[in-house]
Amino acid sequence: MSETTRKQEAVVEPTIFELSSPGRRGYRFPPLDVPEIDPVEVFGESQVRSVEPAFPELTEPEVVRHFTRLAEMNHHVDRGFYPLGSCTMKYNPKVNEDVAGLPGFTRLHPEVDEVHSQGALALMHGLARHLAAISGMDEVSLQPPAGASGELAGMLIVRAYHTDRGNPRSKVIVPDSAHGTNPASLTLAGYEAQEIKSDSSGRVDVDELRRLVDSETAAIMITNPNTLGVFESRISEIVEIVHGVGGLVYMDGANLNALMGIVRPGDIGFDLMHFNLHKTFSSPHGGGGPGSGPIGVTSELADYLPYPVISRDEAKSRGIEYYFDYERPRSIGKVHGVYGNFLVMVKAYSYILTLGPVGLRRVAENALLNANYLQRKLEAYYELPYKGYCQHEFVLSASRQKEHGVRALDVAKRLLDFGVHSPTIYFPLIVGEALMIEPTETESKRSLDHFVSVMIEIARESESDPDVVRGAPSRTPVGRLDEVRASKDLDVSWRQD
Ligand SMILES: *Cc1c(COP(=O)(O)O)cnc(C)c1O
Repeated sequence: MSETTRKQEAVVEPTIFELSSPGRRGYRFPPLDVPEIDPVEVFGESQVRSVEPAFPELTEPEVVRHFTRLAEMNHHVDRGFYPLGSCTMKYNPKVNEDVAGLPGFTRLHPEVDEVHSQGALALMHGLARHLAAISGMDEVSLQPPAGASGELAGMLIVRAYHTDRGNPRSKVIVPDSAHGTNPASLTLAGYEAQEIKSDSSGRVDVDELRRLVDSETAAIMITNPNTLGVFESRISEIVEIVHGVGGLVYMDGANLNALMGIVRPGDIGFDLMHFNLHKTFSSPHGGGGPGSGPIGVTSELADYLPYPVISRDEAKSRGIEYYFDYERPRSIGKVHGVYGNFLVMVKAYSYILTLGPVGLRRVAENALLNANYLQRKLEAYYELPYKGYCQHEFVLSASRQKEHGVRALDVAKRLLDFGVHSPTIYFPLIVGEALMIEPTETESKRSLDHFVSVMIEIARESESDPDVVRGAPSRTPVGRLDEVRASKDLDVSWRQD
């Protein structure tokens, strides 16, 4: 079958509302065996609907098949390689899903009192202790629900710390390779972003940093290894310079895959950092699933952590061992409902205990090995702007392919035709036509070699047959979307008529 016929024959899945047919149903409730009540009397008129919601009506197999068909159209990490740089799309072991699915966890109501939730509190306390051990931080709060929200909590802690010393200060320094959430978080916390350039090796320009810092420097936010996949080898000097003017050093620890078991940010001198449990610690992400972005701090900043903190009273003076500690007068307050996304924490806890210290170190070692293997195999075919060993990821440029009219976006789309997800593209911003590749530790040599052969094939096609690459994808359920329209003319509404 030629590629064009396949595309024409592609089935377009109707929406679940279009599939709906009045009267169909999946489940029926058993007959009422308790006295009937009038909901208006119990809840009040304002809480009770007068019109039935327009839910779609389908049988159970129709629902299952609809979503299975949709899932088959999509690329996901259980289906194929997903080298999306900075996102750590590793395979998440299913055993952690099993643990998080235990009824003792899933049926626990968030408002259950401490006496009846000791197990859950012990788990959260234990996870925080493990993250502290992995990072070298003294205390950890699991409350922020995502990386960006951990960053915001961190910047609010920076502000509270300086305010207590008489002046909140006004500026936070961020490298030009930083993730976009860094400037966003510091701006939300009332700071002004001061960008610092990278030098020719992709690292923070330390001389420039010396010139930039002053008594208005509240903090620097650093990602290490940075988004170019390069380790900031002069990190101790950077820490010293910022501490020298009384500023704090924040680590964007979204991607701990390169460091676990090898380097602890706390030992380097970082004052605070966030973690992304949904990247490094075994929670599926992408598509907007729940995340968790714990924040860790040194003991000097512990009083500012979001409350409640989960504390332990080994003597059980109030009859319980673990409790929510609200006695934090200098806390920045709550940053999420209840105590964050609990089931993500269960998966992370299970993952950490399954691997243990040696296993976590091997995760990092294999993540580094896999990335360096790919970099070596591909550097002859794509421009590698920052040379040398990489960490858990590396950045190529499609600048050579661009001479034939093929852009990074086209390479990304063509990969889909070979069953591989695109790398992150056009980020970091300092690399033109960037292709940011992070294989993660969970890929076998076979899947890495498949990726290499596909990338080489696309490099060849870019010279011999650039139209094929520019027209990709041609083997997926839908072809190339109009990306501008998809974001500027967004219409996902459904109307009954
Ligand atoms: C993913 C990421 C973030 C943001 O994390 P979210 O959970 O998406 O908010 C921040 N910094 C870096 C380096 C990241 O890769």
